[in-house]
Amino acid sequence: MSCSKTPHLVHADSTGQIYDEPELLMLVRRGNELALPRPEEMMPLPESSDLFLLPDRKALGLDPETGRVEVMDGLALAGFASPGHTLCATAAFAREEAAPRLPLYAYGAVGYFRDRFWISAMQVDKDQRQNFSGFDDKTITRKARELLARYPRNRLISHLAGCALNYCCPAARNLALGRFEAPLPTARECNAACIGCISYQPGDSGIQATQARIDFTPSPAEIKEVMLEHCRKEKRPILSFGQGCEGEPLTRARKIIQVVQQVRQAVPAATINMNTNASLPEFIAPLARAGMDSIRVSLNSAEPEFYSSYYRPRGYSFQDVVSSISEARKHSMFISLNLLYFPGISDTESQLELLTGLVQDHRIDFIQMRNMNLDPDIYLELAGDRAMGPGMGLKNFLSRLKKECPWINFGYFNPYVDRD
Ligand code: SF4
Repeated sequence: MSCSKTPHLVHADSTGQIYDEPELLMLVRRGNELALPRPEEMMPLPESSDLFLLPDRKALGLDPETGRVEVMDGLALAGFASPGHTLCATAAFAREEAAPRLPLYAYGAVGYFRDRFWISAMQVDKDQRQNFSGFDDKTITRKARELLARYPRNRLISHLAGCALNYCCPAARNLALGRFEAPLPTARECNAACIGCISYQPGDSGIQATQARIDFTPSPAEIKEVMLEHCRKEKRPILSFGQGCEGEPLTRARKIIQVVQQVRQAVPAATINMNTNASLPEFIAPLARAGMDSIRVSLNSAEPEFYSSYYRPRGYSFQDVVSSISEARKHSMFISLNLLYFPGISDTESQLELLTGLVQDHRIDFIQMRNMNLDPDIYLELAGDRAMGPGMGLKNFLSRLKKECPWINFGYFNPYVDRD
């Protein structure tokens, strides 16, 4: 449902009380561009989304009578869209000099109209794996405790059950409930230093990591137990290495190859996937031969320089990422990109052209349209002139890519790979 009129500006006071300004229109940011929202890119704020108050950032609105941009005394608001939704524009605000850096979330532009909040975003996936409205907490708690009781000596199970019980981690909850996708974190190390890494932030970054990185190295036997347990319950199981609470799984590739070799025959229906920075191409072929059939490669851009400025690779290059994708294609793996999308930067002509080339060269199957979870001003600074736009808009971006690559599909989550 798109919005027939431009929503009103909303802002808040320091107590969190939210106000809408019927006289002023909401503004959005697409890269460095300050603009009115595109009606077709506005949707009612989806269920399970969050509204954030942005500290030391004043709300901006447009006076339709004068055409002037008004800076409010009130705080700006942003929407963190629920999983399955990609932002079309970020929040517009005037940042004060001493404003703290914002935590690792995506800050969507929001407004108010017809008694509801609207956000500049699009639903890209209807998959319900992160929707737990059908389960009460008691059930999830009971299921997580049952897992702990069944595997009292498995450290990986106790780590994941803890994540389900204490942090409501959706991946860990799905393991407890025995549905959809099971998380298999295994790596403490990483060979990249992403600016927006959610599991490790250097002390001087001024940013808080949102996930505690796993502090032990699961054994092949512990990993195997989790995989078999999940496949016992879920008919179309997805088993995924590479989670938010770990480093880079390819740094543990030899052990993972061993485990996949051991379980593949026992779980023929499973999609065995790796979410990875694809930095070590030499391991892709052995992983595929062991039985891994899906790989999800994370990137913010198909432009080598821009990729390196965000991922800050240690001992590998963007060319290694491309070589990994090429290896995966050679071995008929299902290839997804985990595109960290930022409106006004990712959807510019130059970025689309490079991405289209990468998709065509390696016949990539799927693109997960994830939001760049980072303080927008940090990313805009990193992007430099790339943020000058113009952005063509998410809808155009998707349809242009589909036109050039008709086989490609878009979503938000790792799909089950039906091999029948
Ligand atoms: S690749 Fe993953 S674990 Fe490594 S720095 Fe980036 S986000 Fe963090």
